[in-house]
Amino acid sequence: MTKHIPRRRFGQNFLVDRGIIAAIVAAIDPRLGDTVVEIGPGLGALTEPLLSRVDHLHVVEIDRDLVACLRRQHSPQRMTIHEGDALAFDFATIGSDLRVVGNLPYNISTPLLFHLANYADAVRDMHFMLQKEVVERIVALPGDADFGRLSVMLQYRFHVEWLLDVPPESFDPPPKVDSAVVRLIPKAATELDARDPARLEKVVQQAFSQRRKMLRNTLRGVLDAEGFAALGIDPGARAEDLAVADFVRIANRRA
Ligand code: SAM
Repeated sequence: MTKHIPRRRFGQNFLVDRGIIAAIVAAIDPRLGDTVVEIGPGLGALTEPLLSRVDHLHVVEIDRDLVACLRRQHSPQRMTIHEGDALAFDFATIGSDLRVVGNLPYNISTPLLFHLANYADAVRDMHFMLQKEVVERIVALPGDADFGRLSVMLQYRFHVEWLLDVPPESFDPPPKVDSAVVRLIPKAATELDARDPARLEKVVQQAFSQRRKMLRNTLRGVLDAEGFAALGIDPGARAEDLAVADFVRIANRRA
């Protein structure tokens, strides 16, 4: 095969550091019968060690040259190749109890995380390599500068855990940014107390739309003075000061 030239538009930075690859696979700890779905297998850095640990692997890849290469290398018995855009992919078609993994293309990682959050019911866990700055936002706590919409919406739906940092030299070509690996485990239905998840999403979006402004301004039309008092939330606080549970209480108040 001729050498694949990495395509920037598909965020192609291929993992080459064997130590990091082994650490990621060890963190995933795939077992034979697991339903593992890899997003963006690329040249197979994670794919090969995953395949050596499971009976069958699902992959979602957008680059048709890489798909052709995967088709030549792997039988349908061992690998199901879903050619196309992971952002538009219906993960529920694969089944349930999914273990989703990937060294994600950084240019689409945030919308992809929101897309995947829709399938949390069908997922056992997810392990992703992301731009470190995105992982910082995912795990940020109230009061942190990085605490925002991504933190609240993902922490509402998942237990999140920062696993390891990965420097640019671990990739070919090296990206301009640092990376990190994060684990997301869907919370049990009993832990999800938003009565209307769409309303929670709307409240969070509105509260963070102007993050330096006080909640009495950003939540105008959502929560009045009486509402702030009833919930014991300071109207002079900012969105970044609230706990995830506070956003849920606000969203539930009139739902
Ligand atoms: N997993 C490989 C590795 O670790 O070396 C490749 C990782 S590379 C950062 C991202 C991979 O995702 C590439 O194979 C790229 O073609 C693929 N990709 C990019 N955009 C995609 C999309 N929207 N849907 C599915 N795959 C995509």
